[in-house]
Amino acid sequence: MVIICMVILGKNKDILNRMDIQNFQIAKISKKKIINDELCIIDFKLDNWDGHIPGQYSEICLTSEDGYEAIRPYSIASEPNKKTLSFLLEKIPNGEISTFFYDFALVGDLVKISKPIGQRFILKDHSYTIMIASGSGIAPFLSMSKFLLNNNKTFSLFHWSKYFSGLVDYDYFSKKNNEANYFPFVTREKQKKWTAGNSRISAENFINFNKNKKYEIYICGSDSFVKKASEIIDDSNLNFKLYTERFGS
Ligand SMILES: Cc1cc2nc3c(=O)[nH]c(=O)nc-3n(C[C@H](O)[C@H](O)[C@H](O)COP(=O)(O)OP(=O)(O)OC[C@H]3O[C@@H](n4cnc5c(N)ncnc54)[C@H](O)[C@@H]3O)c2cc1C
Repeated sequence: MVIICMVILGKNKDILNRMDIQNFQIAKISKKKIINDELCIIDFKLDNWDGHIPGQYSEICLTSEDGYEAIRPYSIASEPNKKTLSFLLEKIPNGEISTFFYDFALVGDLVKISKPIGQRFILKDHSYTIMIASGSGIAPFLSMSKFLLNNNKTFSLFHWSKYFSGLVDYDYFSKKNNEANYFPFVTREKQKKWTAGNSRISAENFINFNKNKKYEIYICGSDSFVKKASEIIDDSNLNFKLYTERFGS
């Protein structure tokens, strides 16, 4: 288990040498925010970060004292020009890395983070962008949508969450109504003043899009959500290019 380990990186020359080969560099946790029972946001400070394309991910590597390494990919949630790198992490029961970050990681801890990876699930923006997320699948869209907002581009963002607290950046997107067509859904909780959706994803959600327009559609989340959402989009009569990212079961 990696869990109560690592943070020995700076002292170990072998690890530093290997890091160069793998394009990893040391990153220090600068902030940790617990969002709810499942989600947290971790910010990292790195010495050399050349930016990323919205939608890309990095591999995060934890190293235990005996040299065992555990590596997992995580979508970059921060905007490209930010000084800190942020990740939205969902705690998976018995998950090695996600449990470490949610339960044990502290500000000041060191980990290894790879250069940004991926050319497939990245913001293309050749036309109008529609983003569809469930749970922590919102992570790459936090980066994409803020990039689009900063460049005065409108888009649609759909986010399904079990609980209201999981609607990361709800206040931010609700206030950006002119540019962002934000569609939040909460499926397992009744909110007193909730005026948005409570239903699960269905074809209904996409009937107002113009059939003569061209769309770039991105779907991200659990395997089952991505499968369901992709089927719905495939069956719609929209003119689209579809990009999907699956986080796991
Ligand atoms: C390109 C890419 C980007 C990703 N970005 C993010 C991100 O931004 N935020 C994020 O929280 N996760 C993200 N993931 C998932 C992440 O890489 C890990 O798989 C996840 O954090 C679980 O790792 P773990 O070490 O905690 O669990 P593990 O120890 O690897 O797994 C423990 C158990 O949980 C199951 N499991 C693994 N992953 C999941 C999952 N996602 N959902 C449900 N069960 C699972 C495994 O089958 C296993 O049985 C991404 C995955 C990919 C491929």
